[in-house]
Amino acid sequence: MTLTEDIRFFEQRLREMAEEAVELQARVAELERHNQILQKELEEASRAVGSGFSPLTKLYDEGFHVCHASYASPRDLHEDCPWCLSLLHHRGRNNAVTIAETSLHD
Ligand SMILES: [Zn+2]
Repeated sequence: MTLTEDIRFFEQRLREMAEEAVELQARVAELERHNQILQKELEEASRAVGSGFSPLTKLYDEGFHVCHASYASPRDLHEDCPWCLSLLHHRGRNNAVTIAETSLHD
């Protein structure tokens, strides 16, 4: 291989690497955009769990006990259960994972 051929080969490799760099930049931009969308969805999901629409609140509103003594049994819809209300009020600001973990240790 002559020196001229070496230089041409080197220039060709540089052009290929520049093209690869452009492709990688586009791929990174796409992944960053996708990551932003996923982060937004995660924040919205966390907010939904943290709000009053937790699974336990929903279960109670549908007419079932969420307290330990009578969990999942039908309750009197005309009368609130003080144990359920205490649990929902006390743990209302926590998320579902904390409630599940606490229940396991009781
Ligand atoms: Zn109850």
